[in-house]
Amino acid sequence: MITMTKDASSPTPADLHERCLLGGGRLRLRGNCHCHSTYSDGAYPPGQTVARYRDAGYDFLYLTEHCDKLTYGKFPDFDALDSPDLRVLPGVEYRATTVRYGRPVEAMILGLNTLAISHWKSGIDQQSTIDAINANDGIAILSCTYWDGRSVSDMVDLQGAAGIEIYNATCEGVACKGYALTHWDELLESGMRLYGLAVDDCHFNTWPDFTLCWIVVCVDDRSPAAIGDAIRTGKFYSSCGPSIEEWSLRGNRITLRCSKVKTIACNGITCSGRVIHAPSGETLTGFSFDLSERWVSDLPWLRLSCCDPDGRWAWTNPIWLSDMKQ
Ligand SMILES: [Zn+2]
Repeated sequence: MITMTKDASSPTPADLHERCLLGGGRLRLRGNCHCHSTYSDGAYPPGQTVARYRDAGYDFLYLTEHCDKLTYGKFPDFDALDSPDLRVLPGVEYRATTVRYGRPVEAMILGLNTLAISHWKSGIDQQSTIDAINANDGIAILSCTYWDGRSVSDMVDLQGAAGIEIYNATCEGVACKGYALTHWDELLESGMRLYGLAVDDCHFNTWPDFTLCWIVVCVDDRSPAAIGDAIRTGKFYSSCGPSIEEWSLRGNRITLRCSKVKTIACNGITCSGRVIHAPSGETLTGFSFDLSERWVSDLPWLRLSCCDPDGRWAWTNPIWLSDMKQ
């Protein structure tokens, strides 16, 4: 049973292009932004790790070795691992520090589209790490959020981070601390603009951490620059299962079209939001929310999510409503 959206208007392609919140790129590429090989603490050599993602049909993979425990004192040869069908991209996982309740604690940060920064040393604080990543044209992602014991107070004053891991499959497999939606919403509420990423953090160790989640970027080509720009600008969605076919704004309606799900939610800060549930035994493939409804007024941002019958979620990035009015 398919429940259609209430929005029956037919936008022109130009309208759809301009208002497509995933971006106007013609390609959808699926990738994992967090992964380890034997070059740090993963179980398989880089070639086997890459081959597994290629066989699983992924389009891109960031190999993000721990720069403070490089097995061979160097990073894998990314160029040798790269291929047209699976773009293998450079990344690093930094073990930065922060202070929580008077004690120094670690704070993991991914640097995507960049390699280790020469002057970086383990123990450097988060902001310095983020600044160094950005100075090297990289993309800074706050990682291992809940598992790492992060509190919002650790992160709320940071500047220059592009995103935060809202789901980490290894953190879920190791400690049932994979979700960080509360952290994300509270940081958004504080005024930070952070995009949300779902990542495997794959090690191929004893816990399940392979192809359990991904992001899908919307791009015009398969180049590392295009993939990086899509992440940097939020032109992607994250998923543990459902695919999002459309996420767009037309007039006062924001529309999500997706694979078969049981729930579609539109959330802002605090308890504001609307949730649509499929009737028992049925599924939804889309819904259109009316942004002129009273609960939306004065909200700074909204994000959509959906959950399939197996309990797997997908999440859009937030839209900031003030941007839409410009
Ligand atoms: Zn990791």
